[in-house]
Amino acid sequence: MRTKFLKKAAKSLDGLDMLVQDLLTLSQIETGDIKMKFENIDLNALCTEVVDQFEEKAEKKDIRLKLKAHHKIEVFADWQRITQVVTNLVSNAINYTPEGGEVTITFDLGKKNVTTYITDTGEGIPPQHISRIFERFYRVDKSRSREKGGTGLGLAIVKHILEGHKSKAEVQSTVGKGSVFSFKLPRTRLYHSESEAL
Ligand code: ATP
Ligand code: MG
Repeated sequence: MRTKFLKKAAKSLDGLDMLVQDLLTLSQIETGDIKMKFENIDLNALCTEVVDQFEEKAEKKDIRLKLKAHHKIEVFADWQRITQVVTNLVSNAINYTPEGGEVTITFDLGKKNVTTYITDTGEGIPPQHISRIFERFYRVDKSRSREKGGTGLGLAIVKHILEGHKSKAEVQSTVGKGSVFSFKLPRTRLYHSESEAL
């Protein structure tokens, strides 16, 4: 009995802690207290870490979580912040995809930019909600999301971090089929100066 109660209390505290962290991150980004730390980072390595972190959660829901890249993908970005972006997008993809589904991370390497796609076979988002999901506390289905413990801050954080990278998230979604969230980041500085010199 005591263990059961303590487990419940611990879970509530974890939820509160996450909420406080999210609010803090948002307010720090908004007030400019967080400066982005730009450097050459490997997106493949970053996404591999995120995928590893979600392995258990995905397995529990019988969701296949895949990363489709086998080589280094260098971009000029803030490692910690982009980790948060990918974490929030993968977390949503798993949360809003029913059992037996699939969540995939893929990349599109352009000359100057790399686009990262997080694709799910989930419930999708009705078109009239798409423009609002990046607002803080906005959730498509209030009751459903509360049940899953969401507060509606994840995508607001994603939006702010990407703005700090002069980028933004794109969404394509079909109700009943799934969603694709994507964002662009510039390839490394080195690459830019090399290609400009050509
Ligand atoms: P939090 O991320 O703060 O825990 P949340 O997941 O509800 O809570 P957001 O990540 O900001 O909040 O997402 C906002 C809403 O957008 C979600 O509540 C959900 O309705 C919708 N949504 C986001 N990602 C997806 C997705 N991949 N598939 C379907 N709906 C989504
Ligand atoms: Mg979320």
